Amino acid sequence: MKYIVGNWKMHGTAAALEEIRGLAGAVPDGVDVAVCPPFTLIERAARVAEGTRLAIGAQNLHASEKGAHTGDISASMLADAGASLVIVGHSERRADCGESDHIVHAKAEAALAAGLTTILCVGETEAERDASRAEAVVATQLAGSCPGSADGLVIAYEPVWAIGTGRTPTPEDVRAMHAHVRHDLVLRYGDAGQAVRILYGGSVNPGNAATLLAIPDVDGALVGGASLTAAGLLAIAAAAPTG
Ligand code: PEP
Repeated sequence: MKYIVGNWKMHGTAAALEEIRGLAGAVPDGVDVAVCPPFTLIERAARVAEGTRLAIGAQNLHASEKGAHTGDISASMLADAGASLVIVGHSERRADCGESDHIVHAKAEAALAAGLTTILCVGETEAERDASRAEAVVATQLAGSCPGSADGLVIAYEPVWAIGTGRTPTPEDVRAMHAHVRHDLVLRYGDAGQAVRILYGGSVNPGNAATLLAIPDVDGALVGGASLTAAGLLAIAAAAPTG
């Protein structure tokens, strides 16, 4: 089943719960849909989505279980608030907060240990793609940040230059990178690597979703801007091949 995940980033106050309500009642059969609102909305969003096919997640966590980490939130706190998934290693956190592969690895391990589906983001910058280093960069990120177990793990390939820009790689470039990631996962995890879902992220919208989601080894999408309304995310989910 394709997996469509909305990343609201730093958007949304109580009024945005109306979008969660609209989504929760309308998730189409044959597609898994989740939304990751800001921390402040997780508990309320989880209550709105309770008993529906909409999952609620977080955009980040701290790798420690508890302690002197002012402003941070642990995996068990997320689960307690009603989150069932979490994004780790988003390029905005790698860039804004200096998150290294080492840190992302620790976060992924903590999230999986708490039973959270863990969406681990990788992707190259435009300069790295122009230098024909995209696959090498992604391989290094996977090597440095993948957890020991594939159980509950999802990878999101998000070329940094495609996030929020309206630009996407060609379908052939997406196909090639997803095949590369799949190969890496199978080498790393054996058969379990075949079952890891690989999402594409970067300017997915209702107009390009059908093309992107039809590419081999594209098992879903991580969606930023177009996920802020129920209508946007539902239109993307509706474009996904079912099954
Ligand atoms: C993202 O934030 O992960 C993302 C892919 O954003 P956008 O869809 O807006 O490019």
